[in-house]
Amino acid sequence: MTTTLITGANKGIGFETARQLVAAGHTVYLGSRDSGRGSRAAAELGARLVVLDVTDDESVSTAAARIEADGGLDVLVNNAGIEGRTADGGVVNAADTTGDFMRTLFDTNVFGTVRVLHAFLPLLARSPAPVVVNVSSGLASISGAASSPAYVYPGVAYPASKSSVNMVTVLYAKAFPNIRINSVEPGYTKTDLNANTGTQTVEEGAEIVVRMAQIDSTGPTGGFFSAHGPLPW
Ligand code: NAP
Repeated sequence: MTTTLITGANKGIGFETARQLVAAGHTVYLGSRDSGRGSRAAAELGARLVVLDVTDDESVSTAAARIEADGGLDVLVNNAGIEGRTADGGVVNAADTTGDFMRTLFDTNVFGTVRVLHAFLPLLARSPAPVVVNVSSGLASISGAASSPAYVYPGVAYPASKSSVNMVTVLYAKAFPNIRINSVEPGYTKTDLNANTGTQTVEEGAEIVVRMAQIDSTGPTGGFFSAHGPLPW
């Protein structure tokens, strides 16, 4: 039996990932920073709620202690993320990007990923086939931003945070060769994160997350993938 934790799984791509992994037979811990939203989502899916705010050390360590006491963890999906849109649903553009705004996004998207990794690495190390999926973004690609005319995004903080997630993926993959650790790009998906402007369904967005959560010890590590294959850094 594979035991899987998905952060930020009370809605959006994380919820759909939880739904599909429950259907695939995983024991899923559905991470939610809000117990009410989380318990409704977990009950709907037949998952186990774990209250977990990725920006809060105590919340993360309490969640790790609980899952360790229950028997451990095989798969960690670092999905919780924020884009930080304006009140009218627009992207915060470069001119309006402040240090505080950048810090808020990094706290969830980057430091949150590291906080959760640090707490759960000892559990993953005891799994026979440990896997980590870091949910990144196509906007993370520095080569894309630098040279592709198709790369159009008026803001700074969100792509920069996801580029950092990708570096975190590569360096943890090198440091822990027994764990399969990859970044994934779900594609532009209709969720609250982007004020529901995305063009894909959550089923389409979750496809690569679910696939990379199910790789075995012969699978890739230190890579960056969309549903269509490897992506350039
Ligand atoms: P979403 O529907 O807004 O879901 C985001 C989830 O993250 C929610 O469950 C949210 O919880 C949770 N979250 C936010 N801050 C958190 C915190 N501090 N601690 C714990 N959970 C927290 O967005 P989504 O589109 O599904 O995003 C999921 C992931 O996919 C993100 O990492 C995002 O960057 C990535 N992504 C999305 C797209 C896209 O087009 N949608 C494209 C590329 C990558 P609350 O309900 O409590 O806010």
